[in-house]
Amino acid sequence: LSETEQDVLDEIEEKNVDFLRLQFTDILGTVKNVSVPADQAEKAFTDGIYFDGSSIEGFVRIQESDMRLKPDPETFAVLPWRDLEDGASARLICDVIDTSTGEPFEGDPRRVLKNAIDRAEEMGYQVNFAPEPEFFLFEEDENGRATTELSDVGGYFDLAPKDLAADVRRDIIRGLESMGFEIEASHHEVAESQHEINFEYDDALATADNVATFRSVVRAIAAEHDLHATFMPKPIAEINGSGMHTHMSLFTEDGENAFHDESDEFDLSDTAHSYLAGVLEHAPAITAVSNPTVNSYKRLVPGYEAPVYVAWSDRNRSALIRKPAARVPAASRIEARFPDPSCNPYLAFAALIHAGLDGIENDLDAPDPVRENIYEFDEEKREEYGIETLPSNLGEAVDALEADEVVQDALGEHVFEKFVEAKREEHTGYRIQVSDWEKERYLEKF
Ligand code: GLU
Ligand code: MG
Ligand code: MG
Repeated sequence: LSETEQDVLDEIEEKNVDFLRLQFTDILGTVKNVSVPADQAEKAFTDGIYFDGSSIEGFVRIQESDMRLKPDPETFAVLPWRDLEDGASARLICDVIDTSTGEPFEGDPRRVLKNAIDRAEEMGYQVNFAPEPEFFLFEEDENGRATTELSDVGGYFDLAPKDLAADVRRDIIRGLESMGFEIEASHHEVAESQHEINFEYDDALATADNVATFRSVVRAIAAEHDLHATFMPKPIAEINGSGMHTHMSLFTEDGENAFHDESDEFDLSDTAHSYLAGVLEHAPAITAVSNPTVNSYKRLVPGYEAPVYVAWSDRNRSALIRKPAARVPAASRIEARFPDPSCNPYLAFAALIHAGLDGIENDLDAPDPVRENIYEFDEEKREEYGIETLPSNLGEAVDALEADEVVQDALGEHVFEKFVEAKREEHTGYRIQVSDWEKERYLEKF
């Protein structure tokens, strides 16, 4: 056993852990887990735990289904809502190993992100990410099922009594902190019953693990308050949806921020400008991954602080990428405003990283920032500024993905194929439905 693995065994003893949940995600970003008694921990580290990969979305066919989980000891954490007197449960996030080759499984989203990080490393960079996942807290019905009934009518930065969820947020934050999160701030978001909790940036892999963890902690602790937390991007029409703004920067091997250059008008280096240009260039294809549901595209409409047009800005929140005001060099970064929290964070981050690195490799120039409110531009003005529009539905986003080799390569052949298959099916399933809106609009008219 390695030293960290031994530390985990000690902690299991100390914290009276009797069950371990071994976690990974499928290609859609759903966290899967298998629970093993804690006395299996040593065996899990040395031999791994075997499971049937054919039952996992996007993994493998039945005839090649044996997979092995390899727990990453760095990710050990006691689950705060399962820290019971007679024994606690802890989780370990795992890499997936293909038993036929003994190599990391190419369909494992965590592997896909590691490949992106490796490419950055080869270019001399360490990748830092900080996401801002927003969510709604809704009432549950008498059977404990989710509704879209508002739990409060507060707005941006409101305080109690309008913000009834302050206690829930406090419990969520305590839970996250007990799992090792460093929380920066939390606040009521713009929409009624909408919230945001910000956590400290970290390397891209730890951050993607954190997003997966964050979503489960928020849901589990909200449920203890009889509330349903949802990361669905646009649960209610005509009010703000939930985004997952993603702040990104590259550090050099000696810990300097490669995005910072104080001689630049925006404090951004050439490297940052090229990375930004790469993300802009590949944004339509990235949306298939960073905004991967039918519902995602109901959020990406003008007027609700979510981006629609492919442009960047050092001020305006209607742009796809924003340069946040940063006072210290280490904080120079760019904020991609289009991703939403229904994405698989491993795949979305991998797509963003590869697009950005591609921009650096090809020395792309970023266009000028747009400082006006782009929502108010008409088509002519957009044309004059050379501003493209994001895909307006999941089908168009998948088309863009199929036309973009950089983002395809980011996913790798296996994930790309499975992902497109799943998303085409999802979009078709939606397209053949008849909505209440249509019935109200047409039933009596025609
Ligand atoms: N909720 C908005 C969105 O859909 C973002 C609001 C904000 O700027 O934090 O992206
Ligand atoms: Mg926000
Ligand atoms: Mg933000």
